[in-house]
Amino acid sequence: DEKLREIRRELDMNVSGADVVKPCISFAHFGFDESLLDAIIKLGYSEPTGIQKQAVPVALCGRDIIGIAKTGSGKTAAFIWPMLIHIMDQDELKKGEGPIGLILAPTRELANQIYIESKKFAKCYGLRVAAVYGGAPKMDQFKELRPGGIEILVGTPGRLIDMVKMKATNFRRVSFLVLDEADRMFDLGFEPQVRSICDNIRPDRQTLLFSATFPKKVEILAREVTTEPVRISIGNVG
Ligand code: ADP
Ligand code: MG
Repeated sequence: DEKLREIRRELDMNVSGADVVKPCISFAHFGFDESLLDAIIKLGYSEPTGIQKQAVPVALCGRDIIGIAKTGSGKTAAFIWPMLIHIMDQDELKKGEGPIGLILAPTRELANQIYIESKKFAKCYGLRVAAVYGGAPKMDQFKELRPGGIEILVGTPGRLIDMVKMKATNFRRVSFLVLDEADRMFDLGFEPQVRSICDNIRPDRQTLLFSATFPKKVEILAREVTTEPVRISIGNVG
């Protein structure tokens, strides 16, 4: 309706997809429990960023997302918060091993940033996070993953595949997948690894893909790895 269009115009937001829920303008409307809200408030966040306002309620509905917003717009929390809620809802949480939430990032630095940010919120639920990336000893990462002592795994595509080959981890329980900075993963030549990882995760997973820019090649991959996605873009970014 007109009011919704006006809200989105004010947020400089473009949304496409069928039956999309309205954006939430404040943290109180996300329906988070007290421990997560407390953690958010303690960080000094007073209001969700534009991408968070729309992506969080859409992800909480279980929908796939293609999110496009520039660097610094708060994309990490936009996928971490719904991922935590998703994990807490899974029966698999009580049994089995291997991550339920998996995040792909293009570089060691980004994987580490996501790891640090996600730990701030995962601790509210006692969920465990690990990060794997190149340029650090494989054995240390191997030990951290064994025997299935984590629920959330962040990794660069190459090292993640190495860890699966070494049987340090597996994708059997993964039902929430995030591809972060998809454009940079392309620039760094990780497209084959990203595809191979996506092909090895159950197709009924929830998939969120984020990118700062949205060139055609990223769009093609995004359409392939998501199902009936909601596309959310903030600002003049494609
Ligand atoms: P992006 O992935 O879009 O580049 P980040 O997720 O790294 O952005 O977030 C950028 C910075 O903004 C981080 O320091 C993060 O802690 C902070 N941030 C995230 N959400 C909010 C919010 N709602 N209010 C204030 N700061 C936020
Ligand atoms: Mg980011």
